[in-house]
Amino acid sequence: MRVTEPQRRLVLLSPLSGWSAPLDEVPDPVFAGRMLGDGLAVDPTAGTLHAPCDGEVIALPQSRHAVTLRGDGGAEILVHIGVDTVGLGGVGFEAHVSPGRRVAAGERLISFDLDLIARRAKSLLTPVVVMEGCGFSIVRRTAGREVAVGEVLMEIAPVAQADGLRGLEQSTSSERSGHAGEDRRLRVALEHGIHARPAAQIASALKGLAADVELAVQGRAANARSTVALMKLGVRQGDEVSIRAAGQDAVRAVDAVAAVLAGAHGESSASAPARQAACAARSGPSMPAPREPAAPAAGEALSGTVLSGVIASRGLAVGQAVRLAVREIEVKQAGAGVSHESQQLERARAQVRMRLEAARASAAGAAREIVEAHLELIDDPELTASSLALIRDGTSAAYAWRQAIRSSVEALRTLGDPRMAERVDDLLDLERQVLLSLSGTAAAAVQALPPQAIVLAEELLPSQLVGLDAAPPAGICLAAGGATSHVSILAAAMGIPALAAVGPALERVPDGTPLLLDADAGLLHVDPGAERLAAARRQLERRTALRAAERESARSDCYTGDGVRIEVFANVGSLADAHAAASHGAEGCGLLRTEFLFLERQTPPDEAQQHAEYQRLAAALAGKPLTIRTLDIGGDKPIPYLPMPAEENPALGLRGVRTSLWRPDLLRQQVRAILAVQPHGQCRILLPMITDVAEIRSVRAIVEEERTAIGRREPIALGVMIETPASALMADTLAAEADFFSIGTNDLTQYTLAMDRGHPELAARLDALHPAVLRLIARTTEAARVHRRGVAVCGGLASDPAAAAILIGLGVHELSAVPSVIPRLKALIRRLTLAECAGVARQALEQSSAEAVRALGLRLAASESETERV
Ligand code: PEP
Ligand code: MG
Repeated sequence: MRVTEPQRRLVLLSPLSGWSAPLDEVPDPVFAGRMLGDGLAVDPTAGTLHAPCDGEVIALPQSRHAVTLRGDGGAEILVHIGVDTVGLGGVGFEAHVSPGRRVAAGERLISFDLDLIARRAKSLLTPVVVMEGCGFSIVRRTAGREVAVGEVLMEIAPVAQADGLRGLEQSTSSERSGHAGEDRRLRVALEHGIHARPAAQIASALKGLAADVELAVQGRAANARSTVALMKLGVRQGDEVSIRAAGQDAVRAVDAVAAVLAGAHGESSASAPARQAACAARSGPSMPAPREPAAPAAGEALSGTVLSGVIASRGLAVGQAVRLAVREIEVKQAGAGVSHESQQLERARAQVRMRLEAARASAAGAAREIVEAHLELIDDPELTASSLALIRDGTSAAYAWRQAIRSSVEALRTLGDPRMAERVDDLLDLERQVLLSLSGTAAAAVQALPPQAIVLAEELLPSQLVGLDAAPPAGICLAAGGATSHVSILAAAMGIPALAAVGPALERVPDGTPLLLDADAGLLHVDPGAERLAAARRQLERRTALRAAERESARSDCYTGDGVRIEVFANVGSLADAHAAASHGAEGCGLLRTEFLFLERQTPPDEAQQHAEYQRLAAALAGKPLTIRTLDIGGDKPIPYLPMPAEENPALGLRGVRTSLWRPDLLRQQVRAILAVQPHGQCRILLPMITDVAEIRSVRAIVEEERTAIGRREPIALGVMIETPASALMADTLAAEADFFSIGTNDLTQYTLAMDRGHPELAARLDALHPAVLRLIARTTEAARVHRRGVAVCGGLASDPAAAAILIGLGVHELSAVPSVIPRLKALIRRLTLAECAGVARQALEQSSAEAVRALGLRLAASESETERV
């Protein structure tokens, strides 16, 4: 038991992985009525019960369905597996301890057959109860979310202290059905009510607060941590709502929700970038196009007609109609057992989450916002809880997930609010991503498009559009959808002209029909005749020529205007990225995120599989340098094949090189796979999350042992990422041991500013151009200069044109960016001189805010884009 002196508050860890719920939900009056004591219940997803604290086993009945521990200070904790399980007479339970035995927190106590108990017991909900009269009561609890074994479930304290500490908690537990604690009524000020954005803001504002919170309107209530449940309430501006919270942070939780509802987080109909993209995409607040040509009647020939739609993304395209086929994924209703199906679902969600994390790492602006919305939904408590409930009823994971999504979709559609209906796309997208993952399909199947395709579809999901990224369509026309749906915003961000809500007439446009999409006017010209098409093509040619020139010049090496060599490399997370890098003029790969290569696997890739993948990437780069980063997992990058221990603060836990040194067997395997890549000089190794020199020494020793073992004579360069303030401040010491530096500005910014890099509310303030970050970069480049080491930047800042001059002025000589921005970056760098860069870097270091630095950087970047337009 962890004792937090001097108060002697005790932490109880979750004895099971699953869903934590209030005791009220246990279908048994003894537990729900707290006759034995207060506590929580866990709905388990795996069949092993662990000790919630250190203590002595004081009761373990013959039926092995429950266990009671006495912890330090006399706290007595009962864990009762399922409801009405005593009647099973021990069938399906195996005890690993006996009464009188001392156990440590986390130790295995009982194994049980989850499927059998799910079938034969009244409920699997497992109460974890602090026994009445033992002198302890609860001061904090974690309910209404997924928990892993070992995560904090409750905090308890001796009653005398608890009275002072918990205040609200006591009244909550005794009057939970009346939702005592904190209960506030207010009118919603938000112009568009609680749609997707404020719902996500509420869920995010509650992260880290210990309270059960619900929002109620007109007799209906929703878990305030669930974006989906909140949206389904259909709350509109002016509605009176109740915010009810129970738990230690009840007051803060209610304050946080009230602030969002009062509009304190800004106008929330769309986030700034999303709004900009949507505004850029449409002519004004009224969505319909300016002219409304009559839609042709059914059966009427469409040739020569003009269809109108809502402008989703401005622009002009000439091409041929290509209908995008979206096959419904078939799912079986019957499951193969509760434990198997819930694990399958967990694994699929983890895979999708990981893919989304990968997409977020390289996405910017509106595309990033969309990925973040999907990340919020993949962990939505209501979707997870409904799916698990269906799985317990015997369905398959795929069926359960689909049903959970579809019932939310149905509820949103019946609200009759177009804003909510547009969020349906996101839910359906998530449904598809998880189902594909469950069916073992690597990713949303990508349909190969012919050149100049104007994609016609009823609806398109964001992930399908992203899946077309390698060969994007010339234009998009959707029969349904709207200008603010995520796919429209994404199309605008990708620069693809698009119309939405064209209507059913679109279905009658045959594949291959010549089309002129004038998305500036909201019109689709169906087979408009040769003359019209030719004029439009001429219009497009000039723009295309400018782009091509830029791409062409990106093929040569990059020098500043006064002849200083700056290498422009690419960040890569897949073979497709490597090809994109080569075609966009990358001079090498400055960061291969190896954790993204084997996302679909359930088991770790062996050495041969890793080697084959690295070798393919090396070949795709045609001999150009390939910087392979060792696995950077843990923290916000879990991978399904390597479960990590639960951590309270994963961003500060086992991450990067720490994970590799925790599992040196995996590191050795990876190092051997890298060392074998031919030709030997092409690869270098990069270590993530370094904080001191001992870590480099440990890895170097492994690299050298493996090099000798395979008989490779050539040494291999070993570099470190500078992405913690510690490594930047110790750069002089590290430079003596490392062969090169690569600055990871994403993490360096997160750890310097103490702002979570994935936090939606902080996103606007999380700017790597903050002078504090730049000063750490300056310290790094100075140490590298003294020790004659190369310095690259591979974090997101390297892809930011506003930062290029500043970074070069600070002494960075390699930028590793997302492939698509490389032509623009190179064009910009060619116009800069080193003196200009040094001047702006000096000024940047003296600024007091990121905004001021950004304004300086943009001035140089803007002058470049003006000349581009000439
Ligand atoms: C970084 O932190 O800047 C970086 C490049 O690493 P990742 O984004 O993969 O954490
Ligand atoms: Mg990083």
